[in-house]
Amino acid sequence: MKKKDIGVLVDYVYKHGGIGMSATFLDNIKDLGFTLIKPMFQKNDISLFLVIDYTQTSYNTLTSLLIVSVKYITIFFALVLFLLALLISYFLRNSYIRNRSYRNPETGTYYRSYLTDNYEKINFLNYYIALIDIDRFKRINDIYGHECGDNVINSVIKKITNLLIKQDIFVQYGGEEFLVLISKKEITVENFRDRLESIRVIIEEQIFRVQDDIINITISIGAFIQSEVASSLQDTIQNADTALYEAKHQGRNRVPYFDI
Ligand code: GH3
Ligand code: MG
Ligand code: MG
Repeated sequence: MKKKDIGVLVDYVYKHGGIGMSATFLDNIKDLGFTLIKPMFQKNDISLFLVIDYTQTSYNTLTSLLIVSVKYITIFFALVLFLLALLISYFLRNSYIRNRSYRNPETGTYYRSYLTDNYEKINFLNYYIALIDIDRFKRINDIYGHECGDNVINSVIKKITNLLIKQDIFVQYGGEEFLVLISKKEITVENFRDRLESIRVIIEEQIFRVQDDIINITISIGAFIQSEVASSLQDTIQNADTALYEAKHQGRNRVPYFDI
């Protein structure tokens, strides 16, 4: 028998019991599920058939096994997804809480703890540095009390924030001392100098209301431009601090630059 006759032969196998089929097989023919018939060739002729029958019962067992497997696989993936979502929300919540504890809720500025936790992450080469300190602030506390002093500090912060952009980093470094990292990406050295002068002037010209009084405030700013010659962020802040000390020493309300 040639290969092309297989179709006819399979038909024959079903109708007449076929080659090599046992009596038991024929007795159970009603149980047939699906049957695998593989002709075995010898010199281009079919010499015998390999017939494997999956009875209805084994077929059903296989199907139910498959259904159970799909069910468990689905449950497994749902569980993995659930755990993943739980893990992500845990990390998001943690970073949200940490981020919130880094910021003054009233002004949105960073506290010093943000800086100390991120000294290594902030690339100081990308920033010009300015350290700002309110002049003779102790007097305001002494006259109006600490709470009014806090309100004045927040008003000063808001005024300075208006002159900064998103890329800048504004840190409340001490109670009435602020560190401003101004992104070099957006501005030239001249722009930076102008920006600091604007900050100084805007505070000088602002009228602050405390209780029933109107008061004037000035600030001193120590600035540092050449961050590329510094060895670390702390080093740049130290240089700005030296300039700030110079500003106080020269009579306050000014913006000296640390020259390397
Ligand atoms: P100057 O800077 O011009 O030398 O004088 P100053 O009086 O401002 O002195 P200094 O910068 O050393 O300021 C320290 C004072 O600022 C001490 C404290 O009374 C006040 N101060 C510091 N942190 C806070 C704060 O968070 N809130 C209030 N209300 N006052 C603060
Ligand atoms: Mg001060
Ligand atoms: Mg101070």
